[in-house]
Amino acid sequence: MCAYLRIVNQNSQQVSVTLIMGKSRVTPKRAVTIPILELQAATLAVRVGDFLTQELHKPECQQHYWCDSKSVLGYISNEARRFHTYVCNRVQRIRDSTTPTQWNYIRTDENPADLASRGTKVSQFSLSWLYGPEFLSDASFSVSDLCGDNFKVHEDDPEVRKVVTLTTFSEDKLEFLRIFDKYSEWERIWSIIRCILSLTITNPEDRIMHSILIMLQKAYFSEEIDQLQQSVPQLKKTSVLYKLDPFIDQSGVLRVGGRLKNSLAPFSVNHPAVMPAKAHITKLFARSVHKETAHQGRMATINAIRLKGVFLVSQGNRLVASIIHHCVKCQRLRGSPMTQKLSDLPEE
Ligand SMILES: [Zn+2]
Repeated sequence: MCAYLRIVNQNSQQVSVTLIMGKSRVTPKRAVTIPILELQAATLAVRVGDFLTQELHKPECQQHYWCDSKSVLGYISNEARRFHTYVCNRVQRIRDSTTPTQWNYIRTDENPADLASRGTKVSQFSLSWLYGPEFLSDASFSVSDLCGDNFKVHEDDPEVRKVVTLTTFSEDKLEFLRIFDKYSEWERIWSIIRCILSLTITNPEDRIMHSILIMLQKAYFSEEIDQLQQSVPQLKKTSVLYKLDPFIDQSGVLRVGGRLKNSLAPFSVNHPAVMPAKAHITKLFARSVHKETAHQGRMATINAIRLKGVFLVSQGNRLVASIIHHCVKCQRLRGSPMTQKLSDLPEE
Protein backbone atom coordinates (compact mmCIF):
# COMPACT_ATOMS: atom_id res chain seq x y z
CA MET A 1 0.00 0.00 0.00
CA CYS A 2 1.40 3.37 -1.00
CA ALA A 3 -0.08 6.79 -0.37
CA TYR A 4 0.92 9.70 -2.58
CA LEU A 5 0.22 13.38 -2.29
CA ARG A 6 -0.43 15.11 -5.61
CA ILE A 7 -0.34 18.88 -5.68
CA VAL A 8 -1.16 20.89 -8.79
CA ASN A 9 -0.19 24.53 -9.13
CA GLN A 10 -3.26 26.17 -10.63
CA ASN A 11 -1.25 28.96 -12.31
CA SER A 12 1.71 27.10 -13.81
CA GLN A 13 -0.08 23.72 -14.01
CA GLN A 14 3.02 22.23 -12.46
CA VAL A 15 2.38 18.84 -10.84
CA SER A 16 4.17 17.48 -7.84
CA VAL A 17 3.66 13.91 -6.69
CA THR A 18 5.44 12.38 -3.74
CA LEU A 19 5.23 9.31 -1.57
CA ILE A 20 4.03 10.16 1.90
CA MET A 21 3.45 6.73 3.35
CA GLY A 22 3.91 3.08 2.45
CA LYS A 23 2.93 -0.05 4.32
CA SER A 24 3.11 -3.75 3.62
CA ARG A 25 2.14 -6.85 5.52
CA VAL A 26 3.55 -10.36 5.57
CA THR A 27 1.25 -12.97 4.07
CA PRO A 28 -0.07 -15.29 6.79
CA LYS A 29 1.08 -18.93 6.76
CA ARG A 30 -2.41 -20.35 6.46
CA ALA A 31 -3.87 -20.65 2.99
CA VAL A 32 -5.55 -17.38 2.05
CA THR A 33 -6.93 -16.53 -1.37
CA ILE A 34 -5.42 -13.72 -3.41
CA PRO A 35 -8.63 -11.61 -3.38
CA ILE A 36 -8.66 -11.83 0.44
CA LEU A 37 -5.08 -10.53 0.59
CA GLU A 38 -5.97 -7.76 -1.84
CA LEU A 39 -9.00 -6.92 0.27
CA GLN A 40 -6.85 -6.69 3.38
CA ALA A 41 -4.58 -4.29 1.50
CA ALA A 42 -7.58 -2.19 0.47
CA THR A 43 -8.78 -2.06 4.10
CA LEU A 44 -5.29 -1.02 5.17
CA ALA A 45 -5.31 1.70 2.50
CA VAL A 46 -8.60 3.07 3.85
CA ARG A 47 -7.22 3.13 7.41
CA VAL A 48 -4.13 4.98 6.20
CA GLY A 49 -6.40 7.35 4.23
CA ASP A 50 -8.34 8.14 7.41
CA PHE A 51 -5.10 8.63 9.31
CA LEU A 52 -3.71 11.03 6.70
CA THR A 53 -6.94 13.03 6.58
CA GLN A 54 -6.67 13.45 10.32
CA GLU A 55 -2.99 14.36 10.30
CA LEU A 56 -2.75 16.57 7.21
CA HIS A 57 -5.53 18.94 8.30
CA LYS A 58 -6.48 19.50 4.67
CA PRO A 59 -10.21 18.81 4.39
CA GLU A 60 -10.25 20.06 0.77
CA CYS A 61 -7.80 17.29 -0.20
CA GLN A 62 -9.60 14.66 -2.31
CA GLN A 63 -8.87 10.98 -1.81
CA HIS A 64 -8.77 8.45 -4.64
CA TYR A 65 -7.85 4.82 -4.38
CA TRP A 66 -6.41 2.48 -7.01
CA CYS A 67 -6.38 -1.29 -6.77
CA ASP A 68 -5.10 -3.90 -9.25
CA SER A 69 -7.68 -6.52 -8.22
CA LYS A 70 -10.96 -6.34 -10.09
CA SER A 71 -12.44 -8.84 -7.61
CA VAL A 72 -11.86 -6.45 -4.73
CA LEU A 73 -13.26 -3.52 -6.72
CA GLY A 74 -16.28 -5.75 -7.42
CA TYR A 75 -16.72 -6.47 -3.71
CA ILE A 76 -16.56 -2.76 -2.88
CA SER A 77 -19.03 -1.62 -5.53
CA ASN A 78 -21.36 -4.56 -5.06
CA GLU A 79 -24.83 -3.99 -3.62
CA ALA A 80 -26.66 -7.23 -4.28
CA ARG A 81 -24.54 -10.22 -3.36
CA ARG A 82 -23.92 -11.45 0.16
CA PHE A 83 -20.36 -12.33 1.09
CA HIS A 84 -18.87 -14.46 3.79
CA THR A 85 -18.56 -12.64 7.11
CA TYR A 86 -14.83 -11.94 6.76
CA VAL A 87 -15.24 -10.19 3.39
CA CYS A 88 -18.48 -8.55 4.49
CA ASN A 89 -16.86 -6.91 7.54
CA ARG A 90 -13.92 -5.58 5.54
CA VAL A 91 -16.08 -4.27 2.71
CA GLN A 92 -18.22 -2.55 5.35
CA ARG A 93 -15.10 -0.94 6.84
CA ILE A 94 -14.08 0.31 3.38
CA ARG A 95 -17.59 1.61 2.67
CA ASP A 96 -17.67 3.41 6.04
CA SER A 97 -14.88 5.73 4.92
CA THR A 98 -15.10 5.73 1.12
CA THR A 99 -17.63 5.46 -1.66
CA PRO A 100 -17.29 3.03 -4.62
CA THR A 101 -16.75 6.02 -6.96
CA GLN A 102 -13.46 6.76 -5.18
CA TRP A 103 -12.09 3.35 -6.23
CA ASN A 104 -10.37 2.78 -9.57
CA TYR A 105 -8.52 0.06 -11.39
CA ILE A 106 -4.77 0.15 -12.06
CA ARG A 107 -2.82 -2.42 -14.08
CA THR A 108 -0.44 -4.59 -12.02
CA ASP A 109 2.63 -3.42 -13.97
CA GLU A 110 1.74 0.21 -13.19
CA ASN A 111 1.07 -0.44 -9.51
CA PRO A 112 4.02 0.80 -7.38
CA ALA A 113 2.72 -1.00 -4.28
CA ASP A 114 3.61 -4.29 -5.98
CA LEU A 115 7.31 -3.51 -5.44
CA ALA A 116 6.80 -3.88 -1.70
CA SER A 117 4.87 -7.11 -1.90
CA ARG A 118 6.96 -8.85 -4.57
CA GLY A 119 10.37 -7.45 -3.65
CA THR A 120 12.85 -6.02 -6.17
CA LYS A 121 16.56 -5.57 -6.80
CA VAL A 122 18.12 -2.15 -6.35
CA SER A 123 19.13 -2.17 -10.00
CA GLN A 124 15.55 -2.69 -11.03
CA PHE A 125 14.09 -0.28 -8.48
CA SER A 126 11.60 1.86 -10.25
CA LEU A 127 11.05 5.52 -9.54
CA SER A 128 7.36 4.83 -9.52
CA TRP A 129 7.74 3.81 -5.86
CA LEU A 130 8.79 7.36 -4.97
CA TYR A 131 6.67 9.35 -7.42
CA GLY A 132 3.70 7.10 -8.06
CA PRO A 133 2.46 5.79 -11.40
CA GLU A 134 3.28 7.91 -14.42
CA PHE A 135 -0.21 9.15 -15.09
CA LEU A 136 -0.28 10.96 -11.71
CA SER A 137 2.60 13.18 -12.80
CA ASP A 138 0.91 14.02 -16.06
CA ALA A 139 -0.44 17.58 -15.94
CA SER A 140 -3.32 16.66 -18.26
CA PHE A 141 -4.56 14.03 -15.81
CA SER A 142 -7.70 15.10 -14.00
CA VAL A 143 -9.67 13.26 -11.36
CA SER A 144 -12.80 13.99 -13.39
CA ASP A 145 -11.38 11.56 -16.01
CA LEU A 146 -11.73 8.68 -13.58
CA CYS A 147 -14.65 6.79 -14.92
CA GLY A 148 -15.44 4.78 -11.77
CA ASP A 149 -16.19 1.60 -13.67
CA ASN A 150 -18.87 -0.66 -12.27
CA PHE A 151 -16.99 -3.83 -11.41
CA LYS A 152 -18.97 -7.05 -11.28
CA VAL A 153 -18.54 -9.92 -8.84
CA HIS A 154 -18.32 -13.23 -10.61
CA GLU A 155 -21.02 -15.72 -9.64
CA ASP A 156 -18.41 -18.42 -8.94
CA ASP A 157 -16.37 -16.17 -6.66
CA PRO A 158 -15.49 -18.27 -3.58
CA GLU A 159 -16.19 -15.31 -1.30
CA VAL A 160 -19.83 -15.05 -2.37
CA ARG A 161 -22.01 -16.86 0.09
CA LYS A 162 -23.99 -19.60 -1.60
CA VAL A 163 -27.65 -19.24 -0.81
CA VAL A 164 -29.75 -22.30 -1.45
CA THR A 165 -33.42 -21.51 -1.66
CA LEU A 166 -35.83 -24.38 -1.58
CA THR A 167 -39.32 -23.25 -2.33
CA THR A 168 -42.40 -25.38 -2.28
CA PHE A 169 -45.39 -23.49 -3.54
CA SER A 170 -47.99 -25.09 -1.30
CA GLU A 171 -45.69 -24.90 1.74
CA ASP A 172 -45.40 -21.16 1.17
CA LYS A 173 -49.15 -20.83 1.21
CA LEU A 174 -49.35 -22.93 4.36
CA GLU A 175 -46.75 -20.65 5.88
CA PHE A 176 -48.98 -17.70 5.03
CA LEU A 177 -51.98 -19.41 6.67
CA ARG A 178 -50.00 -19.84 9.90
CA ILE A 179 -50.57 -16.18 10.71
CA PHE A 180 -54.19 -17.16 11.48
CA ASP A 181 -53.14 -19.89 13.91
CA LYS A 182 -53.03 -17.48 16.83
CA TYR A 183 -56.75 -16.70 16.51
CA SER A 184 -59.26 -18.95 18.22
CA GLU A 185 -62.51 -17.40 17.00
CA TRP A 186 -64.00 -17.67 13.53
CA GLU A 187 -65.52 -14.19 13.92
CA ARG A 188 -62.02 -12.74 14.36
CA ILE A 189 -60.81 -14.33 11.11
CA TRP A 190 -63.95 -13.01 9.41
CA SER A 191 -63.31 -9.44 10.58
CA ILE A 192 -59.62 -9.57 9.59
CA ILE A 193 -60.45 -10.68 6.05
CA ARG A 194 -63.18 -8.00 5.89
CA CYS A 195 -60.63 -5.34 6.89
CA ILE A 196 -58.20 -6.51 4.22
CA LEU A 197 -60.88 -6.64 1.52
CA SER A 198 -62.32 -3.23 2.44
CA LEU A 199 -59.01 -1.71 1.30
CA THR A 200 -59.80 -2.64 -2.30
CA ILE A 201 -63.56 -3.18 -2.62
CA THR A 202 -66.52 -1.20 -1.31
CA ASN A 203 -68.80 -4.04 -0.25
CA PRO A 204 -66.55 -6.77 1.12
CA GLU A 205 -69.20 -8.78 3.05
CA ASP A 206 -70.15 -10.94 0.05
CA ARG A 207 -66.55 -11.72 -0.79
CA ILE A 208 -65.25 -12.77 2.65
CA MET A 209 -66.23 -16.46 2.48
CA HIS A 210 -65.15 -16.60 -1.16
CA SER A 211 -61.72 -15.22 -0.27
CA ILE A 212 -61.26 -17.63 2.63
CA LEU A 213 -62.21 -20.58 0.43
CA ILE A 214 -59.86 -19.53 -2.37
CA MET A 215 -57.04 -19.04 0.14
CA LEU A 216 -57.51 -22.46 1.74
CA GLN A 217 -58.02 -24.30 -1.54
CA LYS A 218 -54.90 -22.79 -3.12
CA ALA A 219 -52.89 -23.83 -0.08
CA TYR A 220 -54.17 -27.38 0.28
CA PHE A 221 -55.37 -28.37 -3.21
CA SER A 222 -53.00 -26.49 -5.51
CA GLU A 223 -52.09 -29.71 -7.35
CA GLU A 224 -55.73 -30.61 -7.98
CA ILE A 225 -56.50 -27.06 -9.15
CA ASP A 226 -53.59 -27.24 -11.62
CA GLN A 227 -54.82 -30.57 -12.94
CA LEU A 228 -58.40 -29.31 -13.33
CA GLN A 229 -57.28 -26.15 -15.13
CA GLN A 230 -55.56 -28.09 -17.89
CA SER A 231 -57.20 -28.35 -21.31
CA VAL A 232 -58.19 -31.93 -20.52
CA PRO A 233 -59.01 -31.95 -16.79
CA GLN A 234 -57.73 -35.17 -15.34
CA LEU A 235 -57.50 -35.72 -11.61
CA LYS A 236 -55.06 -38.26 -10.19
CA LYS A 237 -56.72 -41.29 -8.60
CA THR A 238 -54.63 -40.82 -5.49
CA SER A 239 -56.13 -37.38 -4.83
CA VAL A 240 -58.47 -37.05 -1.84
CA LEU A 241 -60.86 -35.18 -4.11
CA TYR A 242 -60.99 -37.87 -6.82
CA LYS A 243 -64.24 -39.45 -5.65
CA LEU A 244 -65.95 -36.06 -5.30
CA ASP A 245 -65.81 -35.37 -9.06
CA PRO A 246 -64.69 -31.78 -8.35
CA PHE A 247 -64.82 -28.83 -10.71
CA ILE A 248 -63.84 -25.17 -10.58
CA ASP A 249 -66.76 -22.75 -10.82
CA GLN A 250 -66.74 -19.37 -12.60
CA SER A 251 -65.46 -17.56 -9.52
CA GLY A 252 -62.51 -19.95 -9.21
CA VAL A 253 -63.84 -21.94 -6.23
CA LEU A 254 -63.27 -25.69 -6.17
CA ARG A 255 -66.63 -27.42 -5.71
CA VAL A 256 -67.96 -30.94 -5.33
CA GLY A 257 -69.43 -32.32 -8.58
CA GLY A 258 -72.04 -35.08 -8.62
CA ARG A 259 -75.44 -35.65 -10.18
CA LEU A 260 -77.50 -32.93 -8.50
CA LYS A 261 -77.35 -30.41 -11.34
CA ASN A 262 -81.11 -30.60 -11.85
CA SER A 263 -81.97 -30.35 -8.16
CA LEU A 264 -84.03 -27.34 -7.11
CA ALA A 265 -81.84 -26.75 -4.07
CA PRO A 266 -79.44 -23.76 -4.24
CA PHE A 267 -76.28 -24.23 -6.31
CA SER A 268 -74.03 -23.91 -3.26
CA VAL A 269 -75.88 -26.77 -1.54
CA ASN A 270 -75.87 -29.05 -4.60
CA HIS A 271 -72.21 -28.32 -5.21
CA PRO A 272 -70.67 -27.28 -1.90
CA ALA A 273 -67.24 -25.70 -1.88
CA VAL A 274 -64.39 -27.90 -0.75
CA MET A 275 -62.74 -26.97 2.56
CA PRO A 276 -59.74 -28.88 3.97
CA ALA A 277 -60.58 -30.33 7.39
CA LYS A 278 -56.93 -30.12 8.41
CA ALA A 279 -56.83 -26.31 8.26
CA HIS A 280 -57.06 -24.32 11.49
CA ILE A 281 -59.50 -21.89 9.86
CA THR A 282 -61.80 -24.82 8.97
CA LYS A 283 -61.79 -25.93 12.60
CA LEU A 284 -62.85 -22.46 13.73
CA PHE A 285 -65.56 -22.36 11.05
CA ALA A 286 -66.96 -25.78 12.08
CA ARG A 287 -66.91 -24.77 15.75
CA SER A 288 -68.80 -21.58 14.93
CA VAL A 289 -71.46 -23.53 12.97
CA HIS A 290 -71.72 -26.01 15.85
CA LYS A 291 -72.50 -23.10 18.20
CA GLU A 292 -75.08 -21.77 15.72
CA THR A 293 -76.87 -25.12 15.81
CA ALA A 294 -77.28 -24.65 19.58
CA HIS A 295 -74.75 -27.40 20.31
CA GLN A 296 -76.55 -30.17 18.48
CA GLY A 297 -74.89 -33.46 17.59
CA ARG A 298 -72.44 -34.43 14.86
CA MET A 299 -74.89 -35.02 11.99
CA ALA A 300 -76.84 -31.82 12.73
CA THR A 301 -73.57 -29.83 12.68
CA ILE A 302 -72.40 -31.46 9.43
CA ASN A 303 -75.80 -30.73 7.84
CA ALA A 304 -75.58 -27.09 8.94
CA ILE A 305 -72.13 -26.86 7.37
CA ARG A 306 -73.48 -28.35 4.11
CA LEU A 307 -76.34 -25.82 4.14
CA LYS A 308 -73.73 -23.09 4.28
CA GLY A 309 -72.33 -24.46 1.02
CA VAL A 310 -69.21 -26.09 2.44
CA PHE A 311 -67.99 -29.68 2.28
CA LEU A 312 -65.24 -30.75 4.68
CA VAL A 313 -62.68 -32.92 2.93
CA SER A 314 -60.49 -35.61 4.52
CA GLN A 315 -61.97 -36.63 7.80
CA GLY A 316 -64.53 -33.85 8.16
CA ASN A 317 -66.69 -36.13 10.33
CA ARG A 318 -63.79 -36.72 12.69
CA LEU A 319 -63.18 -32.98 12.91
CA VAL A 320 -66.78 -32.28 13.91
CA ALA A 321 -66.75 -35.18 16.41
CA SER A 322 -63.56 -33.79 17.94
CA ILE A 323 -65.07 -30.30 18.21
CA ILE A 324 -68.12 -31.69 20.02
CA HIS A 325 -65.91 -33.84 22.24
CA HIS A 326 -63.92 -30.80 23.35
CA CYS A 327 -66.92 -28.46 23.57
CA VAL A 328 -67.39 -27.47 27.23
CA LYS A 329 -71.09 -26.77 26.86
CA CYS A 330 -71.73 -30.14 25.15
CA GLN A 331 -69.78 -31.93 27.88
CA ARG A 332 -71.94 -30.23 30.48
CA LEU A 333 -75.22 -30.95 28.67
CA ARG A 334 -74.48 -34.53 27.68
CA GLY A 335 -72.36 -35.66 30.60
CA SER A 336 -73.87 -38.24 32.99
CA PRO A 337 -74.56 -36.95 36.55
CA MET A 338 -71.90 -37.75 39.09
CA THR A 339 -72.68 -40.16 41.91
CA GLN A 340 -71.46 -40.01 45.46
CA LYS A 341 -69.86 -43.02 47.09
CA LEU A 342 -71.86 -43.97 50.22
CA SER A 343 -70.15 -44.55 53.53
CA ASP A 344 -70.00 -47.97 55.23
CA LEU A 345 -73.11 -49.31 56.98
CA PRO A 346 -73.26 -49.21 60.80
CA GLU A 347 -72.51 -52.42 62.93
CA GLU A 348 -76.17 -53.34 63.67
ZN1 LIG B 1 -71.14 -27.89 21.82
